[in-house]
Amino acid sequence: QRVLRVERQPVKEGSDGHLWSIRDVTQQKLAEEMRGQFIDSATHELRTPLANIKAYSETLALMEDVDIEQQKEFCNTINSEATRLARFVDDLLSVSSMEVGSLSINRQNVHLERLFEEVVEKVRPLTSSKSQELGVDLPEKLGEAHLDKDKVATMLVNLLGNASKYTPEGGRVGLIVNKADNHLTVSVEDTGVGIPTSELPHVFEKFFRSKDPRVQKETGTGLGLALANEIVRLHGGEITVKSAVDVGSTFTVSLPLYQEARL
Ligand code: ADP
Repeated sequence: QRVLRVERQPVKEGSDGHLWSIRDVTQQKLAEEMRGQFIDSATHELRTPLANIKAYSETLALMEDVDIEQQKEFCNTINSEATRLARFVDDLLSVSSMEVGSLSINRQNVHLERLFEEVVEKVRPLTSSKSQELGVDLPEKLGEAHLDKDKVATMLVNLLGNASKYTPEGGRVGLIVNKADNHLTVSVEDTGVGIPTSELPHVFEKFFRSKDPRVQKETGTGLGLALANEIVRLHGGEITVKSAVDVGSTFTVSLPLYQEARL
């Protein structure tokens, strides 16, 4: 649906004559709407973990003769909620640096097997909480690459986190890694809700979230893929997506193993 704005301006100062113009403000309206939705989801993203941290720590403080196992369980919940909060704040800061063009990468020699192990360890609690199968397919000898380890890990956790989040209970999430010549190719596939063709060009835009109720019922800010896209670009790589509604999605990232950072 298009949104048109009619504007009236005097032809000359002090004159009675007016010029009428019609402007198409559809894009601007859409951007405003997405920003509004972002404020709602950002508020939720801040409030929920804070409320949980408060509730669990208060309960812990009030409990007498507390069982050590239960104490551990509560502390783990507080810890994972604090991690969620920290991740959100990190994403926000990265997106704001991205806006002013100051997001940069810090390349170091990265042991790839270790990197993928770390990523899988972070994602496993998400897939197991939804009884999803997490398939990991790594080649025998991965060796090293010259990458920004933290940023690449953030990007992969985002992709795998989405794969789990937008896939129903009992579905499958897969991580497939290949190395050829100077390239590392990482595919993240899922058997989830999928993305309609009309939305595919928008998924990497900041604040974009599908209106599909199966997406809306999950928490999210629409920042993860925008950030992933920028991290890949800074590494001189490429990210693509293939998807079919009700079948699943595959995000594929291709990164040069050794290359100077692109400005
Ligand atoms: P968020 O997940 O916080 O909404 P993202 O930037 O990570 O934000 O993703 C943007 C949108 O792209 C999601 O809201 C969803 O509509 C769509 N999307 C991303 N990954 C998937 C996926 N694996 N399956 C289906 N839809 C996805």
